[in-house]
Amino acid sequence: MTPDTTAASDFDCEAALAQLDDYLKRELTPELAERVRAHVEACAPCLSQMRYAERFLSLLRAPASDVRCPDPLRLRIADALRTGGGGS
Ligand SMILES: [Zn+2]
Repeated sequence: MTPDTTAASDFDCEAALAQLDDYLKRELTPELAERVRAHVEACAPCLSQMRYAERFLSLLRAPASDVRCPDPLRLRIADALRTGGGGS
């Protein structure tokens, strides 16, 4: 198999979204990260999904001093994560 770095065709939305979390945390190999990036650049739905996840992650990681403006949604998300733990 020859790696084809130009084609995103074998790296579909499902594959891209499956790597999205690790991509945003920079836990992917450079090769895999590049494929995710290439896919989302060419795929609007995945790009918006990535933007959303990226924003969500940055909200989670942002120190209190990094708050640029009061954001009710941010508070709601933080609160939901604290109280609604349920899942895993
Ligand atoms: Zn996609």
